[in-house]
Formats: sequence, structure tokens, C-alpha cells
Amino acid sequence: MTRDTEEDGALAFFKAQHQAFAETLAQWHGNDDLVPALMSQAYSSFEGNVAVQAEGQPPIACHKGCATCCTIRVIATAPETLMLARYIRAADAALKQAGIDLRQRIAEADGATRDRDERQRVALRRRCPFIAKGICVIYPARPLACRGHASHDKRACAEAAAGRLEGIPLSMSHMMVRSLVQNAMQSALRDAGYVWATYELNHALSIALDDEDSEPAWLSGADVFAPARVTDISLDEMANTFDRIHAGVK
Ligand code: SF4
Repeated sequence: MTRDTEEDGALAFFKAQHQAFAETLAQWHGNDDLVPALMSQAYSSFEGNVAVQAEGQPPIACHKGCATCCTIRVIATAPETLMLARYIRAADAALKQAGIDLRQRIAEADGATRDRDERQRVALRRRCPFIAKGICVIYPARPLACRGHASHDKRACAEAAAGRLEGIPLSMSHMMVRSLVQNAMQSALRDAGYVWATYELNHALSIALDDEDSEPAWLSGADVFAPARVTDISLDEMANTFDRIHAGVK
């Protein structure tokens, strides 16, 4: 496949995803369950399409119980964060009975990681607050960033985590599908008048869990996670790219 054909395919996929998210936003507008509807679509779009894209690629080394790479900064959109807050509220009591206090873990992680950039986070090597007994306890509700971070080489992951290796062989299919699905959702949110930025997960989740009204406030158009905004990603540049894609400009 030529590079032009690949680019055309990615653009067509982005537009189709944008359209599907726009339809969901229109259908669920004013409904309290818009966030679960949106995230169910985002996660199934990612899983279904990555399976197709990864066909014929080297196998993925990631598996349940491996949390070697879970020290990276996780960035998520508002719907992903709100969905995770719902999941945590629902699982809180059962997890506490198992000795896992997620709210305390998130608060502690936020205290240690707030305002640290990507490089500082890598250097910190602090594990994600959701790893307990070696597994990710919020796995079904993990953000798109985690889904799109898949390695072909377990040994390289361990070397990188120990600071002995700079890069690991990540699956390009996973990265590309994650980026296209997430950006298409952001583009549709923008067109529908919702706040579509991305946020550092520990900080945004602390806000969501402290304030039960964060979801209705976001649904009303408020930027409830503004203090957790990731500023190294330019929304103006992203908006410009979305507009160019929709206008058919390459
Ligand atoms: S949310 Fe789960 S998969 Fe993502 S970094 Fe944390 S432990 Fe890993």
C-alpha cells in the first residue's frame, strides 16, 4: 500500500468515526447517560478496528497482569475521565473490602505527579494508582491512551522501565487507531459545543471524584477539569487540523 493510499484510508476512517460520534451526540443530547453511550462507542470502535489493523503484525506482548509500562503520564478526555469516575464509584465499596482504597491512591498519586511533564513523569517512575496486586483494577474502563499503548517486546518494556532503554517497539496499529478514534470523538464534541480538551488523568479524576456534579456540569458545557489541562498539546493546532480534514485539504 502506498503512503498516499494509507493516508486516504486514515482520513476516511477519521471522517466516518467523526460522523458516528456526531450521531451519538445528537441522539443522546440532554440525556444523563450520554457519557456511557459515547465511551461504549469509543471503546468498541477502538477494539474492533485495532483487531483489523493489527492483522499480520507481530504479536502483542501485553497481557493481563503485566503493568510494566504503567508509570507513564496518562492523558484522557472529559468523557473518558467521567466514565472512569462512574466506574470507580460503582466499584469503590467492593475494592475497599479487598483492601484497595482507590480514592486515597488517586489523591496520593495526584499529589506526587501534579504539574509534572512527560519527561518528569518518566523519571519519577511512579506506578499508576490503579495497579493493585499486579493488575489494573479499572481495566474495563481504562482510557484510550492505555488501550493504544501496546508493546511487541516484553523484555524491552522491562529494560525501558528500569531506565536502561529509551524506546520500546510499540504497535503502530494501536497508536494510530487510538489517535484516530480519540481525535474523531474530540472533533465531534467540539462541533456539538462540548469541551473537548485532554487532561492529566490523576488530577482530572481527583476533581471528578471530589465533585459529584462534575458530569452534569460538563454536559452543560463547563470545562470542569480546566486545572488538569495538558498544555503541551495545542487545541488551536488540533482544531485547525480537524477543519482542514473536513474541508478536504491535505
Ligand atoms: S489505568 Fe490501568 S492500564 Fe492505564 S496506566 Fe493505569 S494501571 Fe496501566
